[in-house]
Amino acid sequence: MPIQQIDDFQVFKFESFSTSEITHGIVGREGGVSPDPWRSLNVGGFIGDDPDRVAKNVRRTFEVLGRHVGTKHDVWQSHSADFHIAIAPRGDLPPVHADILISQTTDVTLFMRFADCVPILMHDPVQRVIAIVHAGWKGVTLDAPGKAIRTLCNTFGSRSGDIVVGIGPSICAECYPVGIDVANAVEKVFRGATETFLWKRVGTFHLDLPLACRKQLEREGVRNIEMCSICTAMDLENWYSHRGENGRTGRFGALLALEG
Ligand SMILES: [Zn+2]
Repeated sequence: MPIQQIDDFQVFKFESFSTSEITHGIVGREGGVSPDPWRSLNVGGFIGDDPDRVAKNVRRTFEVLGRHVGTKHDVWQSHSADFHIAIAPRGDLPPVHADILISQTTDVTLFMRFADCVPILMHDPVQRVIAIVHAGWKGVTLDAPGKAIRTLCNTFGSRSGDIVVGIGPSICAECYPVGIDVANAVEKVFRGATETFLWKRVGTFHLDLPLACRKQLEREGVRNIEMCSICTAMDLENWYSHRGENGRTGRFGALLALEG
């Protein structure tokens, strides 16, 4: 099963990822120390939760997957399509603004935070390179998923057919009505070919973010894509949902690391 109960924690793991070459997991909201509205394993800073509690939650998130928190490399996620290559743990350096985080070293654990936006984990076992992408509707309009694949190919010599991709817990189309401005921006980047993931209803649109990301990956030639069927807004016991909780919520963490 993709969901594993490890001690007090719910961990989502993709079945298509190698367990010997990489360590990965997306860790749900159970098992932390934060009170409502961040209950309980909130790893998001700057959203009102106490920094000491957040630090404790981050440490627990790493421990449950057997990675030392000192290997963490995270970024300031800003709904861009900018990439950053982590060559060492971030340590005390300020975080770079980026939404595509890449590494080729076993010294680093890539770490990103989510609450509805799409976590996309990537592993190329041939070139031994990993990436995490954070893609909401802005990321989709910037083709962040496609840009991540092109970056792996151009910078690390990956072939898109070799890259294994997992699309993690995120908001489903049913739970994600969007305005006409978002719908128009999505129409534009897909040149109108949006019928399967942009639903037109009377007076509104619904965007299937994970499926839109999948389309952008497929356009780059990615074939090995595992989709998680969990909707964050429909499972608030286990995940955080910015939309489903009207912005008063926390963030869950996605980790990815190469193993030596
Ligand atoms: Zn939903």
